[in-house]
Amino acid sequence: MNAFDLGGVAASCGAVSTSLADKHDCLVCGGGYGPCKLPGLKQCAACGFITADLRISDADLSALYGEDYFHGEEYRNYVSEEESLKANFRRRIQTLQQLIPDLARKRLFEVGCAYGFFLDEVRRDVAHAQGMDIAVDGTRFAREQKRVDALTGNYLDYQPQARVDLVTMWDTIEHLPRPDLFVEKAASHVLPGGHIAITTGDIGSLNARLRGRHWRMIHPPTHLHYFSVDTLRELLERRGFEVVHVSHPGNARDLRSILHFILELRLGWGGLYQRIAGWPVFNLSLTLNLFDIMFIVARRKG
Ligand SMILES: [Zn+2]
Repeated sequence: MNAFDLGGVAASCGAVSTSLADKHDCLVCGGGYGPCKLPGLKQCAACGFITADLRISDADLSALYGEDYFHGEEYRNYVSEEESLKANFRRRIQTLQQLIPDLARKRLFEVGCAYGFFLDEVRRDVAHAQGMDIAVDGTRFAREQKRVDALTGNYLDYQPQARVDLVTMWDTIEHLPRPDLFVEKAASHVLPGGHIAITTGDIGSLNARLRGRHWRMIHPPTHLHYFSVDTLRELLERRGFEVVHVSHPGNARDLRSILHFILELRLGWGGLYQRIAGWPVFNLSLTLNLFDIMFIVARRKG
């Protein structure tokens, strides 16, 4: 995820024990990959799923999500964005409350909880909230500073004590080498009738199609997979879920992060950024909606 991902939270839980190299057919439908008109990507000839055309080792992936990732390399300073991130989470929680009227009695598990901001925001709205992330620094911060129940580790290796009512993956699935295995794990982790809630970029959106190879969400290797509403629906429905909600909500970001993205990361004008970043006007936050981040909720059948 880069500094301008409107999805909000960087949630790294990607270094799984099964590497990309183990999967040569489409992880959504099992079809064969062919060329994609976007360079560096490949596309399933059967279902249209788009993914990065690369081989990456688990060690490389793990190294991507060190402390540097959340402080400057891709995120200006993730922790300083707590307020705007929480405003985004609050809107997602309100949607979940509409879909799941008795949410207050439900048990929630967040895959890719990073610094624990969502767990902190949601804990008063559910009966129990727990999360997991491979990011060692992030989960330590979550436990020690936010006092939330954040586990450090790989969700695929996690042995839950009990099943939950809701699994969330905020801006996480695009980072995972094998999102199919994570969705299968979630299907076994939630109770029948329980839900999975996912946000990720929508490569089928108008903005993504207009921007083509320049769409800001396309940046392997941190973003490995590029779902559309149709391919994410296919992934979920083949693994026991039925989609009950699709929307493209806007997200607040503080102006300083937007400035950092444009000046330092896109234009390479880090000196200018450093000179003006302290101006108080950049404390303001702005809600943008390019309608290219999708929010999908699916219910487990059976
Ligand atoms: Zn496919």
